Amino acid sequence: MPRLKQVRVGAKPVELLRPLVGEDRIRETYRVAEEMRRRMEGRVFWNVNSTESGGGVAEMLRSLLGHVQALGIDTRWLVIEGTSEFFRITKRLHHALHGSKGDGSQLGERERAVYDRVLQANAEELLGLIRPRDFVFLHDPQTAGLVPHLVRSGAIVIWRCHVGGDKPDGEVGLGWSFLAPYLEDVAATVFSRNHYIPDCCDHGRSVVIPPSIDAFSAKNQELDDATVRAILVHTGLVEGPPGEGSPTFRREDGSPGRVQRHADVLRLGRAPSWETPLVVQVSRWDRLKDPTGVMQGFAQLVDGAAPAGAELVLAGPNAKAIADDPEQAAVLDEVMAAWRRLPRSDRNRVHLASLPMADVEENAAIVNALQRHAAIVVQKSLHEGFGLTVTEAMWKGRPIVASAVGGIQDQIADGVHGLLLQDPLDTRALGTALGRILQDSDYAARLGTNARCRVRDEFLVVRHLIQYAELMERIDK
Ligand code: UDP
Repeated sequence: MPRLKQVRVGAKPVELLRPLVGEDRIRETYRVAEEMRRRMEGRVFWNVNSTESGGGVAEMLRSLLGHVQALGIDTRWLVIEGTSEFFRITKRLHHALHGSKGDGSQLGERERAVYDRVLQANAEELLGLIRPRDFVFLHDPQTAGLVPHLVRSGAIVIWRCHVGGDKPDGEVGLGWSFLAPYLEDVAATVFSRNHYIPDCCDHGRSVVIPPSIDAFSAKNQELDDATVRAILVHTGLVEGPPGEGSPTFRREDGSPGRVQRHADVLRLGRAPSWETPLVVQVSRWDRLKDPTGVMQGFAQLVDGAAPAGAELVLAGPNAKAIADDPEQAAVLDEVMAAWRRLPRSDRNRVHLASLPMADVEENAAIVNALQRHAAIVVQKSLHEGFGLTVTEAMWKGRPIVASAVGGIQDQIADGVHGLLLQDPLDTRALGTALGRILQDSDYAARLGTNARCRVRDEFLVVRHLIQYAELMERIDK
């Protein structure tokens, strides 16, 4: 059985960004890129993670690697294979690094043996591909156990961790004690926030590189209103008629794409009309995204003023489609059960949407349309590594209400680029913030405009590329 899967990404010329970021930044990127290309001559820039779709890391790799590739650097992306027990353990680790117990199971010697066995098998295949002095970026807890194998082969190994906890506690410690032995000889570790660097990586070889988004991907590319409407009507997220547009988008390889599948939506009556203001949260079905809390906060709004008849759409991937995240189906079941317990008047206004995942770019175009159509985007996470959904919505100029946790705090200054919930569990505050934005369209527009400028300056791929080039120069001994 082949264990590793190679993911192909389309090349993305940096030139495309010129109208967005301006001449100076583009010139700087070319300069840095040229150095990086010379450095990489005859070497490969590898990235290894555990899924090609359905999460922030996959999303970011698609964009970043497309740009690196377009700069003439031999770039490859591999996805490891694992058993369901392996992914259960790595999910547990992921929760631990966020400071949460997850399923509460052990992270002991038995788990380590399962983890080691799966990664040993993946490493054997990798070692047949990777050559000494290649750069290998390994992503997240699923791949940390590959580090010693690859370091021994002479590759320059960087481990990048996209998760982290706000308050280091027993769980966080447990997660790092599991991972630390693998990380001793790594050339560098990369974290999304300074705050997330654990003691075991506080050795002068850690750097902070926040993620970025791809302004031209199916997820973030401009869509006009007619296209947004056609996509949302076609998928069943908004009621017809579809209007004049067609449900189309541009694929990564430049070819035209068309949204063909439908969302699987749990709702009582009809889909919201095009005119209905939508409060939207798009996330994996994960308790840390607190989908049930979003429903409760929205219910506060309905019980209060219910401005302009707003409705709530909670959207996530079709839970059956995500191999590395076995908890999603269970969480979606819990959300559905909580939805059934809502009073009928609230349930009428809450739509639970599972978005088709068979075609990653089609899924992205649907998320794009939904975010663009949202009157407000919510991200009521209890913990968050960085929060790409927030960046995506900011780029679309949407007003946002999000929890003041993790990387969301690095993106939004409260009251400037969106509204922050200081206590992510405070559903009343969520209801109040939603009401405030829905009642004041000038305020909403101001927050949205500021949000877009912030992403243009800080969270597009140009900044990311420059930081990668600096890191590679530093560790290329
Ligand atoms: N996402 C998606 N389809 C979905 C749900 C989520 O493409 O049905 C994407 C979302 O747009 C974002 C990423 O998955 O790009 C989630 O990244 P984030 O940093 O918000 O959270 P993570 O899932 O990494 O915890």
